[in-house]
Amino acid sequence: MKRFRIAFLFFPTLLFFVISAQASIFQTGKVVGVSDGDTVTVLVDRTPVKVRLYGIDCPEGGQDFGNRAKQFASNMVFGKTVTMEVHDTDRYGRTVANILIGDKSLNEELIKAGFAWVYNQYCKIPICRKWYQYEAQAQKQRNGLWRHPNPIPPWEFRRGKTTINKDPGSISTGVYRGNTRSMVFHQSTCKHFKCKNCTDVFQDREKAIKAGYRPCGNCKP
Ligand SMILES: [Zn+2]
Repeated sequence: MKRFRIAFLFFPTLLFFVISAQASIFQTGKVVGVSDGDTVTVLVDRTPVKVRLYGIDCPEGGQDFGNRAKQFASNMVFGKTVTMEVHDTDRYGRTVANILIGDKSLNEELIKAGFAWVYNQYCKIPICRKWYQYEAQAQKQRNGLWRHPNPIPPWEFRRGKTTINKDPGSISTGVYRGNTRSMVFHQSTCKHFKCKNCTDVFQDREKAIKAGYRPCGNCKP
């Protein structure tokens, strides 16, 4: 009897270690909402769960191909029962997962069709290597957003938007901008000019240098 009780006590602990040793857990549910290409709502045990697709980033609603990405995701999973390979929970409390439908992955199909970028900052598991190949292939075939002459990664688009909202005056004024974190300054033609930390504005380069900034190696102000 005693031995049985010990086994009973240890079993949940053991199960916990078996689960956490695996990379991910699986959940099944029906897709009841598609907010955009990379965010869906899945009903799991009658509870709606907001799911952010793992390792990819789709164009935002305000960006070119944002609606197309949403439509693509919608066509593929809306109203259907999917399996989620859960990897994480993000800082907004959303479940971060690979969404599987039959033998296909929504994440992968979005990349292949050119409606998503591999989110290099977050895509860290072995499968990401394969996803970069799909992305390169989509670029080569000019699928989806890759036929755009100047596709802007959504994470850069969001950053630009945040800066404008936070500091509307400084965008139009100033010839040079200093990155307060890296202490590098840029001219207005530089792709880094509107970066998140580029909040120090200068009318001439001497002032920027005097303030302790060094010129950017790309735009050479
Ligand atoms: Zn620069």
